[in-house]
Amino acid sequence: MSAYQAFDNEMAIEYINNLGGIFPPDAQLSCYEFGDGNLNLVFRVTDQHNHSVILKQALPYARCVGESWPLTLDRARIEANALLRHGKVCPTHTVQVIHHDSVQAVTILEDLGHLRILRGELNAGRTFANLGRDVARYLATTSFYHSDFYLSAVEKKSLVQTFTNPELCAITEELFFDDPYQDSERNHYPDALSPEVSKLHRNKALKLAIAQLKTRFLSSPQALLHGDAHSGSLFVDDTTTKLIDPEFAFFGPIGFDLGSFIGNLLLNFCAQHGRINEPSKRRDIHTYLLRTIDICLSEFEQQWLSLCAQQGKDSTLLVPGYAEHFLNDVFQDAIGYCGCEMIRRTIGLAHVSDLDEIQDVKARLRAQRLALEVGEQLILHARSCHNKDACYQLIISVLQ
Ligand code: ADP
Ligand code: MG
Repeated sequence: MSAYQAFDNEMAIEYINNLGGIFPPDAQLSCYEFGDGNLNLVFRVTDQHNHSVILKQALPYARCVGESWPLTLDRARIEANALLRHGKVCPTHTVQVIHHDSVQAVTILEDLGHLRILRGELNAGRTFANLGRDVARYLATTSFYHSDFYLSAVEKKSLVQTFTNPELCAITEELFFDDPYQDSERNHYPDALSPEVSKLHRNKALKLAIAQLKTRFLSSPQALLHGDAHSGSLFVDDTTTKLIDPEFAFFGPIGFDLGSFIGNLLLNFCAQHGRINEPSKRRDIHTYLLRTIDICLSEFEQQWLSLCAQQGKDSTLLVPGYAEHFLNDVFQDAIGYCGCEMIRRTIGLAHVSDLDEIQDVKARLRAQRLALEVGEQLILHARSCHNKDACYQLIISVLQ
């Protein structure tokens, strides 16, 4: 097979058989496609002993829209290489790549089917004690080892080129920073939210803050980001946390991933108002979500500073006090991007089931209004937070 072909089940099996080395030679393979994501094909290939791998293949268009939205196959190369690089420095929290083929835009991955996608678990009210710590470790480790504090300037510039990802970045630039703050055909929300949306569109201070956040997204290649660190990109159980799906990876502002993750926890916080009626149960999950954010911010800071102290290489950047200063900017960015994530997931193109699947229409609207309000306040006040604790206090204050 030389030219690219989109696989069906039989082709996926044939590909793995021809490759060899994935299963024993006498393996009898079966396969089904079950991708519930927006963009790609995801096959599970299993042998007669129930050993399995995942074969993910990019399509030359966005699956959720169809062939009218062409999309580069190069995203498969970016995703596999980001996983390999992140997996090298943080194997505990990165899904393992078994094989990658850029021509077929195919990546074979370890099967994480014994774990669950975080979003559904949070929606069901389930909690994971290690989540905040684990995500912080993944984000701190992968960003530190791909930053100017660690890489030589020459190596970093070469990696920035390798991970230049213009088409996928353009999706974020438009859906995250442009559409929610203007009339766009891609936005969607109930008519009842129109007054709130108009208010956002008229808010000049908000638009200035968005412009600043977008500029940093466009032109701050601080580290190799995951690029799409939402609750649907996290597999979890009580002891394990694994990130998948970094096809939006590029060198960008470190606060972007941190903000996306925290934004998804806060979207769930807002949604729980419409999901759990019993006050004490709702309080429990609310407390859990806030505690997870607190742990995540603290652990991220601690990890980054200790990596700087032990592994930092650039003597100019390691001057006492600069890492702390740098991290304050990262936290401010994170709070801003967190607010953007909350707004765009409520009124933009790609929503979250946390909010959209609230059954009661009025409760859903209340949760959506809260998400918009919290998002807006975080964006407006992010730059007033001069340390991690102030960021956390801001989050608490806007939720009240
Ligand atoms: P997309 O990029 O199209 O969004 P994802 O990488 O998010 O695709 O995968 C879509 C779905 O496929 C996930 O929600 C998950 O259910 C399943 N999946 C993806 N990777 C794995 C894996 N390594 N192990 C088990 N299931 C996976
Ligand atoms: Mg994806």
